[in-house]
Amino acid sequence: MYMDNSATSPLDPEVLKEMEPFLKEKFGNASTFYSLGIEARKAIEIARENVAALIGANPQEIIFTSGGTESDNLAIKGAAYKWKNKGKHIITSVIEHPAVMETCKYLETQGFEVTYLPVYEEGLVRVSDVEKAMRDDTIIITIMHANNEIGTIQPIAEIGKIAREKGIYFHTDAVQTVGKIPIDVTELNVDLLSISAHKLNGPKGIGALYERKGIVLEPLIHGGGHERGIRPGTENVPSIVGLGKACSLASSHMEENMDYLTNLRDTLIDGVLEQIEESYLNGDRTSRLPNNAHFRFSGIEGESLVLHLDAKGIAASTGSACSSKKLEPSHVLMALGLEEVDAHGSLRLSLGKENKVEDIEYTITSIKEAVETLRKLSPLWCSAENL
Ligand code: PLP
Repeated sequence: MYMDNSATSPLDPEVLKEMEPFLKEKFGNASTFYSLGIEARKAIEIARENVAALIGANPQEIIFTSGGTESDNLAIKGAAYKWKNKGKHIITSVIEHPAVMETCKYLETQGFEVTYLPVYEEGLVRVSDVEKAMRDDTIIITIMHANNEIGTIQPIAEIGKIAREKGIYFHTDAVQTVGKIPIDVTELNVDLLSISAHKLNGPKGIGALYERKGIVLEPLIHGGGHERGIRPGTENVPSIVGLGKACSLASSHMEENMDYLTNLRDTLIDGVLEQIEESYLNGDRTSRLPNNAHFRFSGIEGESLVLHLDAKGIAASTGSACSSKKLEPSHVLMALGLEEVDAHGSLRLSLGKENKVEDIEYTITSIKEAVETLRKLSPLWCSAENL
């Protein structure tokens, strides 16, 4: 029972079917002018249209990259390097994915100054904080659309509005939202938006950056003129085709998937909170991804809980796949103001359309049993009970 879709999601069989010919007989280089190449070029442009359609963009505004990490780097470093003579100030939040956070930290070593905005108990950035942090030398604001751990959805349209008024570039890492909730780049007032295929049942190692018409970035790599020279390199045609298909499937099933997942998520959240004492939901209850349930349980270790659930056939995680190997508590949970010991007792379940209602019932029972078992062994739980 796979419940770690925020880490990665299974490849949709329809996506695989669409990709297959481009892994086999349709192997042409899209820059060539004979039939095989023209066919590959056409497939890339259809994929570009499908990605654009999912987010309300023009196809010319889509640049294919190797994934979310590269899109984030290209947006932030590309803007910073291009506009460094205008200013060297960047605004971001304390709960960004490492692809943004580490990029900002790297830019600090290159003479840029970064303001990291807080998110408070509910895990949300406040628009008033963004406004206060804006300066004459601010060149880019980068705030994620939805957090990959706690699933909170940020007020992107409002932040984008004030950034636009001040002529500051606005980037959002939408890796966790694209394909899960409706996105319109015009309504969101964003200039740059990162996409990753493997979070929406597409292949790994492919993504895109939406770059609004008129936005100018410095390329990070140099080579041929592919992707308007912003991201050169022979195109990964099968994966681009896969991303395009994943986007078109997400567009056609958006409403039904959202309703379905929201219902599963709410059943899971209500069940856990009602049936397990001292269990809490991390992050805002309503402004959250339809597939994200992130809990904490007093007196236990999240890692042990994940192992117990694995033994019961449930794949879940403590937080993001990128940080779950580290022993430090997640920077996202610490940003909510949690004590270290509470942050360690967290569990993320990120649902997918393959999950069934019966899976949810089984999951609630399994979590309950695992939490009870672990609490019996936990000195932390004894002390909590004795308080
Ligand atoms: N940004 C967010 C919010 C993510 O969740 C992830 C993946 O975990 C990434 C960026 C990185 O994307 P990719 O794995 O395609 O490099």
